[in-house]
Amino acid sequence: MTHAPLEKFYKKSLNERIQNLIDTSRIDAETVEQFKTSLLLSDDTANHMIENQIGTYQLPLGLGLNFVINDQIYDVPMATEEPSVIAAASFGAKTIKASGGFTTYQDQRLMVGQVALRNVSDPHDKKERVYEARERLIELAHQAHPSIVRRGGGVKAIDVRLIDENQVQGTPDFFIVHLLVDTSEAMGANMVNTMVEAIKDELELITGGDCLMGILSNYATENTVTSTCIIPPTLLSRAEIPGEEVRDRIVEANQFAIADPYRAVTHNKGIMNGIDAVVLATGNDTRAIAAGIHAFASRSGQYRALTNWYVDDQANLVGTITVPMAIGTVGGSISIHPGAQFAHSMLNKPTASELAGIIASVGLAQNFSALRALVTEGIQKGHMSLQAKSLAMVAGAKGKEIEAITKQLKQEPLMNLAVAEKLLKAYRD
Ligand code: NDP
Repeated sequence: MTHAPLEKFYKKSLNERIQNLIDTSRIDAETVEQFKTSLLLSDDTANHMIENQIGTYQLPLGLGLNFVINDQIYDVPMATEEPSVIAAASFGAKTIKASGGFTTYQDQRLMVGQVALRNVSDPHDKKERVYEARERLIELAHQAHPSIVRRGGGVKAIDVRLIDENQVQGTPDFFIVHLLVDTSEAMGANMVNTMVEAIKDELELITGGDCLMGILSNYATENTVTSTCIIPPTLLSRAEIPGEEVRDRIVEANQFAIADPYRAVTHNKGIMNGIDAVVLATGNDTRAIAAGIHAFASRSGQYRALTNWYVDDQANLVGTITVPMAIGTVGGSISIHPGAQFAHSMLNKPTASELAGIIASVGLAQNFSALRALVTEGIQKGHMSLQAKSLAMVAGAKGKEIEAITKQLKQEPLMNLAVAEKLLKAYRD
């Protein structure tokens, strides 16, 4: 469904924004009720989610706007404590929307489950025996979690990897069996763990080795998603710098992050600002995604940029990101956290593959905004007002004071907490 755009959303009060969502039919009456409790977890739910629960810890939830992904318009829920993240994502998405939006691609969603064995003699021969026993191993795995097969998922392949002691000195040889599992709409950690544990005994029999463990791998190399955008230079001019020059500087800024790990870490941190906020808002596992993505950034042997920006033969700037994206639309806390439920309904209940594309696109928009600012006016200019607002709040400003002190702080030659406190005191006197 296409809704009317949310105009000047950032200028509205909280109540006006929620009313705007209702007026544009983005949220229904039931969801409005949930907003009365700020999408909070009930004590009972929170108590059952973790151990030793003593309270709940809140974060702001906002909407990343202007996202057009595969010709669909999305207002993307983002949970983050960091100022400027949602503004940057929305700003980046606005330029990309003007040139047609994002196109995403995912060919498969397979999770990797590992069984590690040691003391396997003649491992190359045993590798063949494991492949010969493929059908039996798949049957055992499916018996342990039959519902995923009924949902059209299940084990799609078995792979064996041999890691010999010469590869990493001081470690033994490992005989590693991978199950590649289609987990359907779930992230699948629990179902994959159940399956790998179910084949441990059989693998010991086949290989004659000792099983050390069976566990999901968060290095989800068989579950990657790609998002791409194409931006003509006419949309890139900024601060009196022609679009072609901004384009070329963005390409070079990306090359800097491909070449230098010190830059790559910060480049990717910016991407994760967007990715993490959507992963969290949709009830997915932020640690699982971060671990997989950072390992993927190192797949060449050096930690590098997750994005690639280049110029196509029509002189357009092309941006692309490929990341592992082991998320789900069911399972874990997704079905029980009211905030996560809201996020999925705001996104029109996407499939896991669609959600993966949305998340990757937010990461790409974030990266585009950051690079464009860095190679033109610098990152601090845009951050200044948000920093001023934070300082005003830390100094103790409340309600209308926050806007007033923020405005005054931006005119000061030096912006720090002492100045904010001085201004607040003068404002109150
Ligand atoms: P669940 O254990 O909740 O399993 C998914 C649930 O969704 C199952 O109950 C399944 O039903 C149900 N379901 C309903 N519809 C579908 C569908 N279309 N496709 C698939 N399942 C469906 O979650 P996961 O196995 O996904 O595990 C994710 C959780 O595990 C996260 O909370 C994560 O933090 C945590 N975790 C992560 C680890 C890691 O990353 N290393 C390790 C351990 C846990 P049915 O029972 O009928 O199959």
